[in-house]
Amino acid sequence: MIPFLNLKKNNEKYREELIDAFTCVIDSGRYILGEEVRAFEWEFGTYCGVKHAIGTGNGLDAITLIIRAYKELGIFKEGDEILVPANTYIATILSITENRLKPVLVEPDIRTYNLDATLLEKKVTSKTKAILTVHLYGKIGYSDEMGAIAKKHGLMIIEDSAQAHGAIYKGRKTGSLGDASGFSFYPSKPLGALGDAGIVTTNDSKLAKVVAALRNYGSREKYHNLSQGVNSRLDELQAALLRVKLRHLDDDNQKRRKIAQRYLREIRNKKLILPEEGTPERHVWHLFVVRTEKRDALQKHLSKNGIETLIHYPVPPHKQPAFKDWNKKSYPITEEIHNTVLSLPLYSAMTKEEISIIIEACNSFS
Ligand SMILES: *Cc1c(COP(=O)(O)O)cnc(C)c1O
Repeated sequence: MIPFLNLKKNNEKYREELIDAFTCVIDSGRYILGEEVRAFEWEFGTYCGVKHAIGTGNGLDAITLIIRAYKELGIFKEGDEILVPANTYIATILSITENRLKPVLVEPDIRTYNLDATLLEKKVTSKTKAILTVHLYGKIGYSDEMGAIAKKHGLMIIEDSAQAHGAIYKGRKTGSLGDASGFSFYPSKPLGALGDAGIVTTNDSKLAKVVAALRNYGSREKYHNLSQGVNSRLDELQAALLRVKLRHLDDDNQKRRKIAQRYLREIRNKKLILPEEGTPERHVWHLFVVRTEKRDALQKHLSKNGIETLIHYPVPPHKQPAFKDWNKKSYPITEEIHNTVLSLPLYSAMTKEEISIIIEACNSFS
């Protein structure tokens, strides 16, 4: 069986370096908010091209703390509206509802799966405060048009960069495109820890200060609490491991691009809608998602050929029991996407043979 993702094999390449990093942390005797976290924050911020990076416990907390910090700063208040793609992973939306702001779901462009600037502007009201854009599947979900709409209406742009570490739009990386950005280092993400981890990036010094306090009980100085914060610190150990993996991120992204390019070139089957490549540097291929009306049949066919696939995602947020009030709402583009998508295996440690088997199996589907 070709697994959807083989994380063990991906991390095997860095085994020696990871063990060295682990050993350093054991020997340091400092396990929370020490040198490794400081160094990783500096290195990741530099990588993204921003002034500040603040490690958090996970990706959901990173986005949630950005919104919370804007509330603390008096820029957002409860009940304000944030525009967000209807077809995102539920975490994006939870970061808004957790803060008691109102997510306004916007249909994506069916070709890019990301927000479309024209549709976006129609949803702006006097209560709209921000656009929370998602670089879904690893593809840039920001454009100059979006930036112009934000400017025109005085909206913040927050990036959910959980799937797109290292993707570049016109020379600027994710994490530096909006006013603030949240990343996840969940193990399967383009930059993955060996556990939970996340980070906030921004050029806004005030915001950075508030987030840094909020993630650590609202304190800047031990036992002095400025606000009612949370405990969502990035682990010293995960930071040390992430420093190793950050050094290999561009190479890993490049390897995934090459595999995606083979899929795009060699999968020839009219029944499958392949993803748009666009400008190569704008996509890091966290997921390679194809669409077909016969999705379940395709999944079965690939499984019979020894290929594991997954669906990202089977149920859109507005159809989840968690959001009962929205269950009767209709977002036809989003629903069409959820009913037809299938993700093929794509990770840097795949062999040429595995890739060929997947291509052949896609081509023999009828
Ligand atoms: C993974 C993910 C998150 C949440 O990250 P965690 O580290 O699991 O909390 C948020 N948004 C998107 C789009 C994601 O893919």
